[in-house]
Formats: sequence, structure tokens, C-alpha cells
Amino acid sequence: MDNCLFCKIIAGDIPSTKVYEDEYVFAFRDINPVAPVHVLVVPKQHIPCADAVDSSNSLYVAKCFEAIAKIAKAEGLENGYRVINNCGEDGGQTVMHLHFHLIGGTDLGIAIR
Ligand code: 5GP
Ligand code: ZN
Repeated sequence: MDNCLFCKIIAGDIPSTKVYEDEYVFAFRDINPVAPVHVLVVPKQHIPCADAVDSSNSLYVAKCFEAIAKIAKAEGLENGYRVINNCGEDGGQTVMHLHFHLIGGTDLGIAIR
């Protein structure tokens, strides 16, 4: 997608701090971290949001979660972590390219955020 921030980051046209990459997934540190570890895990296919996931692209979602498990180990999150997806306007999504926030490195409490 021409005008998508995360497509540009995946392509390397906008710099990021990459933590993981494979055929399906690109992951990089959030520019505005809310915890000691805050990684954005992004499918390499432009899927706008969770609401656009279907049988044609769900492999990318599965690969994101495989990557999350690997990144969590690499980042030392053996005590746990949180995975967040914001979907659409009411969900607070600001970048319309599906992504999962991997957050950890501290006690995140029990509230659903
Ligand atoms: P959303 O609100 O859509 O769930 O999450 C978008 C996230 O992208 C935010 O946490 C924001 O800090 C992050 N973000 C926005 N622009 C950039 C950028 O240019 N580089 C990086 N690394 N993160 C960004
Ligand atoms: Zn995109």
C-alpha cells in the first residue's frame, strides 16, 4: 500500500529498530513505548485491521503469533507479557495496518487495557 506507514517501515523506506523478521512478519520497537519492552508485530501483507482477517490472509496472523512467542523469549519475557490489538476507531487504532503490540518487562497488572 502506497500511503501506509507500516508498509513503508517494512520496505525500509522509513527507519525502525527491527527486532525480528521472516517471510511473513516484521517486528520493530514502538516509537513511543509504554513499557520496558514494546514491540509492534506486523504482517508483511497489508491487512488494514483485525476486522479484515479472513481465510485468505489468516496465515499471516498465525505467523505473527509464532513470532510473538520467539520475540518474547528473545526479550526475556519469561514471566509473561501482554498482546494488544486495537481495531478501528472505537478500538483506538491509529495506524491502519494490522499490528499486535507485544508489551512487557514489568508487572502490567490485571486490568484489561
Ligand atoms: P495503534 O494505536 O494503531 O494500535 O498503534 C500504533 C502504534 O504505532 C503506536 O503505539 C505508535 O507509538 C506507533 N508508531 C506510530 N508511528 C511510528 C513510527 O514511525 N515508528 C514506530 N516505530 N512506531 C510508530
Ligand atoms: Zn500497510
